[in-house]
Amino acid sequence: MDIDGSTTLLGILGDPVSHSLSPRMQNAALTEMKLNMCYVPLHVTPADLPAAVAGLKAMQFRGANVTIPHKVAVAALMDSLDETAVRTGAVNTIVNNGGELVGHNTDGVGFIRSLEEKVTLDYSDTPVLIAGAGGAARSVAVALAGKGVPAITILNRTRSRAEELTAILVRDFPGLKVEIATPEDDTGGIINSSKLVINATPLGMEGQLKSLPFRVDRISKEHVVCDIVYTRTQETPLLVAAQQKGAITLGGVGMLLHQGAVAIHLWTGIEPPIVSMRLSIEP
Ligand code: NAP
Repeated sequence: MDIDGSTTLLGILGDPVSHSLSPRMQNAALTEMKLNMCYVPLHVTPADLPAAVAGLKAMQFRGANVTIPHKVAVAALMDSLDETAVRTGAVNTIVNNGGELVGHNTDGVGFIRSLEEKVTLDYSDTPVLIAGAGGAARSVAVALAGKGVPAITILNRTRSRAEELTAILVRDFPGLKVEIATPEDDTGGIINSSKLVINATPLGMEGQLKSLPFRVDRISKEHVVCDIVYTRTQETPLLVAAQQKGAITLGGVGMLLHQGAVAIHLWTGIEPPIVSMRLSIEP
């Protein structure tokens, strides 16, 4: 990659951000696409988020991805939001249209594409448990509700955040059964009655948090277990435990790939090279 005086910048805002595989993956795409663009990691604390977003405009970035913990907070800093960002109240992709920052959310479509590469589900017969109620959980929950799942239980340590996500789901999907649980509740019964079980908390992130997001003793070969956390080895404590129970498992790399590909398309208007992107992040 040759950086010169007219290179256009893209980046990813997060805290932490050093774990992110996005710079490697997105630069692999931009290089193969022969675009004079470069994608950089931007470590931004919550307190600095407004200044960082203003800086994207001031420094004429073409856009950025947004990761933990900023996806919800950044939505309020956009000049406008696309339909999915409005619906989820979360933004993972910013497009700078000549000084107007537009917030998009490609996480939901990324999750669904990754899931459907691995399994064929009858969504109408797939009750879901999602651990977490942050930006990623919102996108995954809204995407699955849009596919027609009958029930979603949100398991989150902070009940009020689970209630915010419940309000979004109830507003837009009247037929959907939505329940809330906290880690103090007995989650065995919820896991028994769920078919798709998803971790959308950071528990399991590399070098950080080794604990499990929910109990795994009730996981069986009847379950599909997804961990949207990704690591370089593609293993997390949850995936290892679920594999031992015979469940079908799915890590977060596929979601990363597909949400990132849609983001590149939003910035450039060009379909990115999925195969090269995948090769750049697989171990
Ligand atoms: P976020 O908006 O900060 O939300 C984090 C959620 O996890 C919140 O519900 C939070 O609960 C919960 N949580 C945080 N720390 C916890 C802990 N120690 N124990 C239990 N719960 C905890 O973050 P996010 O953007 O949704 O990201 C969540 C994870 O998904 C990150 O690891 C991120 O890298 C990953 N992710 C992966 C992809 C992909 O493409 N594979 C895409 C998006 C996100 P409270 O409400 O109680 O704070």
